[in-house]
Amino acid sequence: MVTIKSKKEIELMREACKVVALTYQELEKKIKPGMSTWELDQIAEKKMRSLGAIPAEKGYDIGIRGVPPFPATLCISINDEVIHGIPSKNRIIKEGDVVSIDTVALKNGYNGDAARTFLIGKASKEAERLVKVTKQAFFEGIQYAKAGNRIGDVCHAIGEYVHSQGYSVIREFQGHGIGKEMHEDPGIPNYGKPGRGIRLEPGMTLAIEPMVIAGKPNILELEDGWTIITEDGSLAAHYENTILITEKEPEILTML
Ligand code: MG
Repeated sequence: MVTIKSKKEIELMREACKVVALTYQELEKKIKPGMSTWELDQIAEKKMRSLGAIPAEKGYDIGIRGVPPFPATLCISINDEVIHGIPSKNRIIKEGDVVSIDTVALKNGYNGDAARTFLIGKASKEAERLVKVTKQAFFEGIQYAKAGNRIGDVCHAIGEYVHSQGYSVIREFQGHGIGKEMHEDPGIPNYGKPGRGIRLEPGMTLAIEPMVIAGKPNILELEDGWTIITEDGSLAAHYENTILITEKEPEILTML
């Protein structure tokens, strides 16, 4: 079921989403080569908790036997890792890395969700272009995210743009509605047909998240049960915001 948030709930969504935006502001300042992904995770957790929020991904259980709950505040996925990378003291961020971070803050019972991809120091031209296209794909999509349109209009715009740039979107993971639950209806794939799916209404809050691969769309899952990598070893990037559907332009809740 797709939930329509009340005025009061929208205020609470705004607060949770602001925590995420402030967490990224902090990470952007602190991220540098030589640091472990665990250190970065500690910074994010401290920031979120200082703002009265709980890291919602920490302890998140996908309910598959043998897969432990996600142990950290941030998903940190580097280079050919697409999503759901697990922070570790042994994983050191290096010059030139493409570091995709995804996180969710829970505050007063509501979730805010966003992802950013950081280029560390001097990155390759290809990495720069991939990160730019992934971010732009989000903005191409949300041009259609307004009351009266269908969710398929958004999905289609994202997929078409990414493909026009010679890149791929992954098909196994998608954006989603968000609110009291981290993942609510509708599912929002990064490809689709215009005119299909639910009709957008004011008060819907949606996490739109292009996950883009520079090469072929095929992915693999590592033995940790979480980390998703590209099959062909090519680079991947991720960009996401939680948005609010209004009568006019959507409001991006996870940007300052
Ligand atoms: Mg996310």
